[in-house]
Amino acid sequence: MGAVLTQHTAWPYAARAVAALRAAGLLGPRRLAATSAAALARAIRPAGTPRVKARRLRALTRWLLARTGGRFAPLAGLPLGPLRRELLAVPGLGPETADAILLYAAARPVFVADAYARRVLGRHRLLPRGAGYEDARRFVEAHLPSDPALFNELHALVVAVGKAHCRARPRCAGCPLRFDLRGRPPAG
Ligand code: SF4
Repeated sequence: MGAVLTQHTAWPYAARAVAALRAAGLLGPRRLAATSAAALARAIRPAGTPRVKARRLRALTRWLLARTGGRFAPLAGLPLGPLRRELLAVPGLGPETADAILLYAAARPVFVADAYARRVLGRHRLLPRGAGYEDARRFVEAHLPSDPALFNELHALVVAVGKAHCRARPRCAGCPLRFDLRGRPPAG
């Protein structure tokens, strides 16, 4: 739910919507699927664009109910490539949202190559200028062990570096990754 609610929204606002869903008893897929789009949109208003996100939550929930009866655990045993393609076919789920669901809800070894990650990789010359989401995801997955716990922690650390240091104007002094620049300025 959080992966959808945080689209185009900072996490604290998405977290307020998750808390509202929990308080209303709507985090379970069957209850959520049985709730009208209008009532769902009212509950998730703190996350912004509530009608769009209500539609997306209902689409994801319908898919999950049809696929596994509403449980994420069985997704851990399905072939990853076809499963990712199925998720990407759910209306409103882009690569970043689908990969966050695969990593955090299904414990699959997928790297969430969000804007923070692409910025750090680009500035450290690990990706060419103009590289996109899939380039970054494939690069990281090809160079690290296929371990969900590793990708989980790496994503959290990259987000922390991105928020504290690798902003629109990089603050390399004091950044834990500055050693990797080897005295060169960040690329880009
Ligand atoms: S050292 Fe500079 S370019 Fe590298 S991640 Fe930190 S802030 Fe970004």
